[in-house]
Amino acid sequence: MNPGAPVLRFAPSPNGRLHLGHAYSALLNTDLAARMGGICRLRIEDIDPHRSKPALIHAIFTDLAWLGLHYPEPVRRQSDHMEAYRSARDGLIDRRLAYPCFCSRGQIRALAEPAGATARDPDGVPLYPGTCRSLDPARVAENLARGEPHTWRLDMAAALLCAGPEHGYVVFAKTGAQRIAANPARWGDAVIARRDVPTSYHLAVVHDDAAEGISHVVRGRDLEAATDLHVLLQKLLGLPTPLYRHHRLLLDAGGEKLAKSRGSQSLADLREAGVTPGQIRTQLGFG
Ligand SMILES: [Zn+2]
Repeated sequence: MNPGAPVLRFAPSPNGRLHLGHAYSALLNTDLAARMGGICRLRIEDIDPHRSKPALIHAIFTDLAWLGLHYPEPVRRQSDHMEAYRSARDGLIDRRLAYPCFCSRGQIRALAEPAGATARDPDGVPLYPGTCRSLDPARVAENLARGEPHTWRLDMAAALLCAGPEHGYVVFAKTGAQRIAANPARWGDAVIARRDVPTSYHLAVVHDDAAEGISHVVRGRDLEAATDLHVLLQKLLGLPTPLYRHHRLLLDAGGEKLAKSRGSQSLADLREAGVTPGQIRTQLGFG
């Protein structure tokens, strides 16, 4: 590969079998990388210790190889990089851009009542009102010393002061590049590290995209709103912002996004039913 050649990635989470939506994203990334003279990496996004099962990681490799997709080694596994995420998180804490939140899940759920009365983030989660942001520092130190369960939240107002009010990113498309304005504030004080792991999806993904030199992020439209938060985190952490493209989501017959939880057929189901990789490529427009 030439230095400076595009680097893309396909980054599934091993919390279910891959379905046609994953196949579309994987094939699109590989196809775009080839057209641009670059490469596509595979990343296993397994920060969730409860949902990420070794058998499911193995199944991802099997399904992708069956589709004829092969990736450069080593394949990055997020669970191998917890110390790097912890250090990125601690950097934000040291700069007072993140604070511990001791609210229980029940307390946070209660914020949703009465229904509709609370502003919500793009995922539909009620915006956190910042209760723990103004906790007395002595009480915070006491809670932490006692090992009180907590997440870490970005102090959005402090982050915007630090990174400036203007945010955006460039979308690359067949028709050319387009600058998109980002509004990270709509995520409120987002969780950047969970109770059980020193990161969240958002922190790990911006760290990894930079660590792997990803120049073009191609992922589903369901993550388009998250890009607003990601460009802010990149600025705070001094990381480059890749180019982005958010692709269409495959829908089932009822018009819903494909998901194993809704009974969408997995690639393994299709394989067992006699469907060939060639048929899948043709069906998805890569024939
Ligand atoms: Zn809290």
